[in-house]
Amino acid sequence: MARVVSMRQQLLLVNYHYVRDPHAYPYPGIHPISPDAFAQQIKLLASKLHIATPDEAEAFLLHGKALPRDSVLLTFDDGLVDHWETARNILDPQGLKALFFVCTRPLTEHRAVPVHKIHWLRATTEPDRFRADLLAELPGEWRGRKLTDDETRAAHATYIYDRPQDAEIKYLMNFLLPEEVVDVATSGMLKRAGVSEANFCARTYMDGAALRALEKSGHRVEAHTHDHRPVTRLGAEEEKLMSGHVRALADVLGRKPTWISFPFGRDWALPQDPEAFCRRYGFAIGVTLKGTWVKPENAPYALDRINTNEVEQVVSERNVAVS
Ligand SMILES: [Zn+2]
Repeated sequence: MARVVSMRQQLLLVNYHYVRDPHAYPYPGIHPISPDAFAQQIKLLASKLHIATPDEAEAFLLHGKALPRDSVLLTFDDGLVDHWETARNILDPQGLKALFFVCTRPLTEHRAVPVHKIHWLRATTEPDRFRADLLAELPGEWRGRKLTDDETRAAHATYIYDRPQDAEIKYLMNFLLPEEVVDVATSGMLKRAGVSEANFCARTYMDGAALRALEKSGHRVEAHTHDHRPVTRLGAEEEKLMSGHVRALADVLGRKPTWISFPFGRDWALPQDPEAFCRRYGFAIGVTLKGTWVKPENAPYALDRINTNEVEQVVSERNVAVS
């Protein structure tokens, strides 16, 4: 199909994770945007740009169909219950449509994604207690693992805002422990906190009925992998996990997903060949979490996308560039 779009036209993809009260937790761990701040940000975006529907964005990206003007697409990652509230309370009353990228493990296994267990445990557990509980849940060979001098330095450099001992435990969890070990340990920690994993899922994630209701009201639900592991770390399980994820989403939605948001979205977590990866599992569009504006000439397999806290800067820079 001929590209009919002006080469100057551009699309901004914006990503949101937690949208909830930032003061709901005693400790840091969950860094949400509040519903009020979200509503304000939507107002700012709507005053400067067209808020594109997922269908408009897809037609622009895949077929070069012109947008009314420079536009923004709102995207939400992880399938959190927050997004159901946000859609119902803030987007729907304004007739705005968004795209929701979800993991399927909570839907098919009633088991949580490790990264969300970590966020919640950190936000609700006193840091020394968190450290002790984690160590107690680790298998022996990891429990006694001391960080080397290099690892200790890397930990302090990576988590500059944390106390040294907290930085070290975060580094151990995020960079050294195998994913399966973190998964089992954090489930054990939930149990210690008296929370069943099925219960945790029920209050953390949207269920199939909510996802179908979103689609029915004009939003789109798309892929974010089975359990949020970076696609670069799926190894021999890639085919099984990705095909299962696509099948599980198709079961819920009654159609195959066509977009994927790569978990973590940074270079280290992106497939080496995003086009080949997307084609393997039937995706037409892949999105990252880096960069700024998407131009019509960009290949659609690893598209730029910004975070909510980058919005003001990116939008104000555009004004400067135009004037
Ligand atoms: Zn995510």
